Amino acid sequence: MRKKLCVLLAVLIACVPWFFGGCASDAKELDEYTIDAEYEDGVLTAEQEVRFYNRSPEAWEYVEFNLFGNAWREGASPSPVPQGFSASAYYAGKSYGQMQILSAEGEGVSDWEIAGQDENILRVHFREPLGTGDEAVVAIRFSLTLARVNHRTGIARRSVNLGNFYPVLCVWEEGDFAECTYESCGDPFYSACADYRVTFTADAEYTVAASGRCLSAEEEGGRKRYEYALENARDFALVLGTEYELLQADAEGVQVMYLSYSDQDAAATLAVLCEAITYFSHTFGRYPYKTYTAVQTGFCFGGMEYPALVMLSDAVSGKELFYTAVHETAHQWWYAAVGSDQRTYAWLDEGLAEYSSALFFDAHEGRGFTFSSLLSGARSAYNAYCTVQEKLCGEADTRMDRPLSSYGGELAYVNIAYNKGMLLFDSLRAAVGEKRFTAGLRRYFSDFSGKIARPEDLAASFSGKAGAAADVIRAYTEGRT
Ligand SMILES: [Zn+2]
Repeated sequence: MRKKLCVLLAVLIACVPWFFGGCASDAKELDEYTIDAEYEDGVLTAEQEVRFYNRSPEAWEYVEFNLFGNAWREGASPSPVPQGFSASAYYAGKSYGQMQILSAEGEGVSDWEIAGQDENILRVHFREPLGTGDEAVVAIRFSLTLARVNHRTGIARRSVNLGNFYPVLCVWEEGDFAECTYESCGDPFYSACADYRVTFTADAEYTVAASGRCLSAEEEGGRKRYEYALENARDFALVLGTEYELLQADAEGVQVMYLSYSDQDAAATLAVLCEAITYFSHTFGRYPYKTYTAVQTGFCFGGMEYPALVMLSDAVSGKELFYTAVHETAHQWWYAAVGSDQRTYAWLDEGLAEYSSALFFDAHEGRGFTFSSLLSGARSAYNAYCTVQEKLCGEADTRMDRPLSSYGGELAYVNIAYNKGMLLFDSLRAAVGEKRFTAGLRRYFSDFSGKIARPEDLAASFSGKAGAAADVIRAYTEGRT
């Protein structure tokens, strides 16, 4: 995600289900989502089939799915929108939505329940435990009622955002399912890669932007049905609008699409998107998908990343829009390809997306920023944040490995995950040397693309200097730097 700098500076100053219980599987394949969704009048209804494998050494009594749509319920806690962003998010006054599970079935499924800290989990119980290496298929019917809100999931002022719109399998980790709780700051998402086949039907007047490539589009009776495919991705998102103009170009063999309705220089934005795809592909490794779609939309922050699709806020323009486009594109490498637990290590993808953006602007004069201006801006903002915190609280909590719920607001989150994150990567570069730094990031990308990386994996990628890298990461994340 990318924040709007001006706002933050102001704040600183101020199916048929079945189940193969005993079916031996080598568990090498990816999980599969097959989603058939329809959208009409602010409500999405869908049938979703998820085929998945137990890759853990333990048998599963049940499986869990994250229900991000329930963060928009009346009474949800914490609020999905941070204080200070309410007015720009809720453009039509306070509004609510919800995700309703209608059924969850499967041949080996006994029953299901809504669980979690805040109705954010669907727990599906098996009649017999799902053993290691076994495969299961669960079919879920659900409806998602959208709030009127400029946010990831909602009816925005001039478009409809369908991010995080379906139940997402929780990652199994350390003997339990890692549940995601929606927080007002940060991206509370943590998921493994899967293959997607999505069919989506909406009124034909909508232009649809989607993760993945469009396989077919058929119109009948004023409705249009699209079929999409996306492989080896950790999420899938859609955005709809009636005012979009589409520009597209090729970059490194990738079909780059930009849909906008109020960008005065959409051609320049498309050019920056293509430059970013090209630069990051050459610097870190090949872009992992066949298509890349950037879509202008109503969003109270600067932008939001999904695999093969990014949302760019219609409230940013000029060089801020360029920056946001580059930052979100960098997330295709750091988040979409190389996954991480964003609930705890927000700096790992955000800091690297920020630093990657600085490298991009260093290599692209005339796009509005220089490397040194971005680094000094991050340093100044972080130092100012620490000074204010020390005055207010006696000390600044600058630890970086921490749950999103601990930040207590956007100011802390942005200064720790983004600004201090950027400084961490600059110190890492100084510690391991220029050549090893780039080679290490290339290795980090190639080794963990499609997987989930932890901070120690990043350090280990700088071969020959892994110890020095680990020292830098520890010094920053433990709050001493
Ligand atoms: Zn970001």
